[in-house]
Amino acid sequence: MKNRALIWVFLSVLLLGAFGMALYLRRPVEYRSDQFLMDTLVSIKVYGRDTEKLRKAVSEAYAEMHRIADLTDRFPAKGTTAYTESDVCRINEMAGVRPVLVDKEVFAMLEVARNYYDLTEGAFDVTIGPVMRLWGFGGNNPHVPLAGEIKDSLAFVDNTQLVLNRKARTAFLGKVGMNLDLGAIAKGYATEIALQALKRNGIKKALIDAGGNIRVLGTNSGNDFWRVGIKNPLRTGGILAVLSLKDSAVVTSGDYYRYFESGGRRYNHILNPGTGYPATENVSVTVVTKDAGLADILSTAFFVLKPEKVLEIAKKQEGVDVFLVTADKRILYTPGLQGRIELRGEGDFRNDPSR
Ligand code: ADP
Ligand code: MG
Repeated sequence: MKNRALIWVFLSVLLLGAFGMALYLRRPVEYRSDQFLMDTLVSIKVYGRDTEKLRKAVSEAYAEMHRIADLTDRFPAKGTTAYTESDVCRINEMAGVRPVLVDKEVFAMLEVARNYYDLTEGAFDVTIGPVMRLWGFGGNNPHVPLAGEIKDSLAFVDNTQLVLNRKARTAFLGKVGMNLDLGAIAKGYATEIALQALKRNGIKKALIDAGGNIRVLGTNSGNDFWRVGIKNPLRTGGILAVLSLKDSAVVTSGDYYRYFESGGRRYNHILNPGTGYPATENVSVTVVTKDAGLADILSTAFFVLKPEKVLEIAKKQEGVDVFLVTADKRILYTPGLQGRIELRGEGDFRNDPSR
């Protein structure tokens, strides 16, 4: 009798072990690779069975990102001497001189940028270059310019003077001194292109994180939603909310990413094209949508706009959700996030659930 019980126990343990083993073997392997690209740390994680296939997919995704970077960079990458001039550099050099033939994808980016310039009533403007330069963002001596200097350089910021000729596929900045800056769009666009490269290589599960521009493919390795945290802009290490997502992009523009301090004030690198000064309506704007390129554009554009305006525009955009932390410490988000968001109640903010 006793022996029989023991045999049963033994068999059960064996069965459990085999079951566990089967589950373990079913779990896909992870392949991860990081690179410094487009002035930020990019990390790509993919899941599957065959490491060699995963490695090849990721290497193609990075090749695509480098290709977009080479087309859109405004300066040669650090440490390189021989570099081919990017389309953006050529457009800038020929400002006020003549139209420049550009790559198909650059042209597409400029057309999309124009659409969002219109949609956001000018809050999103890729001709912001002259004022960015004046503030010294991107360089090693950022500083607060004189009001007169800002006013003068604003005369060279005007998306309507970026002439796009679809037939000839040319771009032309109408005035000498104008300057294109695709900093708000290139990274997201490249992230989306990289994800498409992964898909072409048969990848079904992936996460790309390009300096906070996040794009997930499929579900996570445990066949569950990916969980993406939204940082508390007021508290390092704090998480304000967690999103549960699949097949989506999440991009945050915050005033705590890139900024400098002067006279006890913080100046962040997203400028209001109307004033030439850093935008102050929001401290962090997260956009959730399918496409990483669109999410990148909208997070920057919405950062500039008044919260009420952001919600109004987002509502009209199919499949676009937004989570805002306003300058007056309110948390607002679109109804589409309900059921996909878990608030962590960090206590620094007033939650406004009526939205
Ligand atoms: P990050 O590059 O840190 O992820 P964003 O995507 O918000 O942040 O892009 C900020 C960049 O966008 C700036 O560094 C600048 O190149 C550009 N930019 C700043 N203000 C504007 C604006 N109002 N419209 C379009 N581009 C902008
Ligand atoms: Mg952006």
